[in-house]
Amino acid sequence: MLIAETKAGVKLFANDLNERPTEALICPGCKESVVFKKGRIKLPHFAHKPHTQCFSFSEGETAEHLMNKSFFHQWSGGQLEAYLPQLKQRPDILVHSLAIEIQCSPLSFERYTERTKNYQKHGYQPWWLLGNKLLPQQRWGQLQKAFCSYSPEKGIHLWGIKAQQKEIWLVYAIRNHFRLGFVYRIKKWCFREEPLEALLLYTDQQLTSLKWNFTEYRYHIQRKLFLDNAKIHELQQKIYLLGGNIQTLPGWCYQVSDFYFFFDDRLLFLRYCFTKAANFDEWLQLLKYLEFTWQYPLILQKEILILVYQECQRLAK
Ligand SMILES: [Zn+2]
Repeated sequence: MLIAETKAGVKLFANDLNERPTEALICPGCKESVVFKKGRIKLPHFAHKPHTQCFSFSEGETAEHLMNKSFFHQWSGGQLEAYLPQLKQRPDILVHSLAIEIQCSPLSFERYTERTKNYQKHGYQPWWLLGNKLLPQQRWGQLQKAFCSYSPEKGIHLWGIKAQQKEIWLVYAIRNHFRLGFVYRIKKWCFREEPLEALLLYTDQQLTSLKWNFTEYRYHIQRKLFLDNAKIHELQQKIYLLGGNIQTLPGWCYQVSDFYFFFDDRLLFLRYCFTKAANFDEWLQLLKYLEFTWQYPLILQKEILILVYQECQRLAK
């Protein structure tokens, strides 16, 4: 942590200190005593004594996390390590109702979801930025996907932060392709290049569409069936129950989608249901057979379903 308190409640910034203060210092969250640390690798900071159970600073802070937090704070202003008592949470930086969380170490999906929902419930907007270890490269796990947001201007996107380069990264226009895997674009900003609002409002006028050959995709599905892929068989069963066959759906069902990322091949089920439903509400009823759980706490499922429905309307014409 970068801020500690004296017993009288005076806040001290680690950056302002040259040497260990003589006064006893405590953690502003749990009120246990902390020590001042200054070394070659990490920025000056405070740390709990070993084996302290602190509810608001549970993870040991890495050099990367301390640097990112300090740069971000210098750039954005806002409150550093502001403790929010109703939530029992402490965002790294708070700028009005924007709760900035810089995540450099692994985190469970459950813990991430819990923290995110807790912010949302209390009227804060969480903004997660991922450090080196978590920023997706080849592999996109459940957690990386769960960090994604959606807007029409950026498509599916997430944010990263690079301590060494002093940069913020926007990974955007993220799509999943049945053969190529995850594809995306990256926009980088140096700290202080632009104000924080400019990053949040960034739009790309040319979100290019994905090259996707629908006959190749249909073949890809047939091949998975032939190879006894369990997920495709399960999907085939669900489509059978509604009277269809996953290999012979109307041609438009195999066309490219901006939302394949969320559903992968299950999108075929959503599209087949569209051919069976008279309106949006009927369609939603049919989707229940998919038994699908939404794992994107930063994105409203309903918003995406409306867009998928509109895409079906466009393609089925
Ligand atoms: Zn503490």
